[in-house]
Amino acid sequence: HGSKKGSVRQLTPLSFEQIGGQERAKQELIEALDFIVKPEEIAKFGIRPLKGILLTGPPGTGKTLLAKAAAHYSDSVYVAASGSEFVEMYVGVGASRIRDIFKEARQKAVKSGKNSAVIFIDEIDVIGGKRDGGQHREYDQTLNQLLTEMDGIHSSESPRVLIIAATNRKEMLDSALLRPGRFDRHIGVDLPDKKGRAHILKIHAKNKPLDDTVNLDKIAEESFNFSGAQLESVMNEAAIYAMRDKQEKIRQQHLSMAIDKVMMGEKTDREATK
Ligand code: ATP
Repeated sequence: HGSKKGSVRQLTPLSFEQIGGQERAKQELIEALDFIVKPEEIAKFGIRPLKGILLTGPPGTGKTLLAKAAAHYSDSVYVAASGSEFVEMYVGVGASRIRDIFKEARQKAVKSGKNSAVIFIDEIDVIGGKRDGGQHREYDQTLNQLLTEMDGIHSSESPRVLIIAATNRKEMLDSALLRPGRFDRHIGVDLPDKKGRAHILKIHAKNKPLDDTVNLDKIAEESFNFSGAQLESVMNEAAIYAMRDKQEKIRQQHLSMAIDKVMMGEKTDREATK
């Protein structure tokens, strides 16, 4: 439910503790959010308001989770849209959809008595790709509308609006999006290191029965280069193996098998798209 194309989604609150690893990204995000949480100080120093944060990094590393947690942390309403919604929209429809998203964010904040709204735009590169040689012409109006909306944000306005965008192709973005006063703060969200992977596995093991002999650090070691989304799959597949085995609890071998399965799955996907 709620995932209709063209609808603005409202999701359940999520805190930074539910995100594994990504310590530096979390820290940088929290510092940026002080612009919303401590507006008086920002005004005292005459700092221009922060309007846009760009999260960059490979798929499945927790960018969406970070945006949701940012909304929760700053006591803002959360609205989300994805660049892919704008594909094959008729000329003008994309621009009016952007207008609606901003309107809806402000209305939602007012309705729920909050001072701020976080708008999350996933796959920003779809609407914000470089405007070279007229290649992305159909998106021009959409991008222009987004820039207009961002330029129209004032520090004194209530509710305050912050846009968080995500991409795994930062080099594709039009420079107009990256100018000061737009998405001028960039936070890298990379694949987790071993410690991060162990943390993510722990988070996704919370609601699952694990055998005492399970060593998640070892699984973290074996899952080199896995994203958070893949680690979530590993825990889920391991639970399925344990259930098929008619076991009461998940064992180490189920987790190892799950790693292979997730790795294989990725490979078959890649073959299929060749
Ligand atoms: P995409 O670029 O594909 O949109 P994303 O970076 O936005 O990916 P998310 O949607 O945040 O990734 O993550 C997908 C799922 O993977 C999450 O719902 C969660 O189950 C799991 N996940 C990813 N990263 C983490 C993490 N750091 N901690 C815990 N779970 C994670």
